[in-house]
Amino acid sequence: TEEVLHRQDKLAAVGQLAAGVAHEIRNPLTSMRGYAEFLQLDEKNPERMEFLGIILDEIERVNTIVEDFMVLAKPKAVELEEKNVVPVIKNVVSLLEFEARKKNVRLTFDCNHEIIQIDCDENRLKQVFLNFIKNGIEAMPNGGELHVKTIIHDNNVQISIQDTGVGIPKEKLKNLGEPFYTTKKNGNGLGLMVSFKIIESHNGKVFVESELNKGTTFNILLPAKTA
Ligand code: ADP
Ligand code: MG
Repeated sequence: TEEVLHRQDKLAAVGQLAAGVAHEIRNPLTSMRGYAEFLQLDEKNPERMEFLGIILDEIERVNTIVEDFMVLAKPKAVELEEKNVVPVIKNVVSLLEFEARKKNVRLTFDCNHEIIQIDCDENRLKQVFLNFIKNGIEAMPNGGELHVKTIIHDNNVQISIQDTGVGIPKEKLKNLGEPFYTTKKNGNGLGLMVSFKIIESHNGKVFVESELNKGTTFNILLPAKTA
């Protein structure tokens, strides 16, 4: 178990971050321009539907990057409100059920409490759970199990997201949450950075345990209102 959130030095490299963003956005722009030029030259091109599909995918890619960065642009804009976090997690789990089934992943949600009140920004927390669960699913290209569990620990709620996937090498744990750190062909390496930032703004913590080819568990700790 290693604390992976409180490493301020990570977010200090602003210049590197800007360069990375520019790079991530320029690639899809270049590709969109290319395909749009094809279409402009030859409007009857038999491949036009395919080209339009590529352009739409690339627009989506840029959109995701911009959305992720909005969290950083307005770090103080999080508005915490007392909410029951259980249905928030449930909602994200059911949102990803179809995706999991397609990838042969058994997705379960286990919670002993009906109500766990926390101060939170519901939409941002949803984004966090979505990122972690998606990462879990993506870590299991041949299917597996993904368990989401919620337990109360002193004054905290611990949400654990456990997969039976590829695992993370010990020497790579320090890279988690670094902007653009990704091992995926279509990854952007922003999900964890944004998630860590959101969890931090909720005064939470993140712990990770991982074993190669066995799986990974992320534990998210958030302060809960004691009953
Ligand atoms: P992305 O998903 O776009 O790659 P993230 O910031 O969400 O970006 O994740 C960064 C990297 O952390 C991933 O590319 C992967 O190498 C690693 N990672 C995150 N979650 C897991 C997991 N559950 N199992 C294995 N590796 C993971
Ligand atoms: Mg991700």
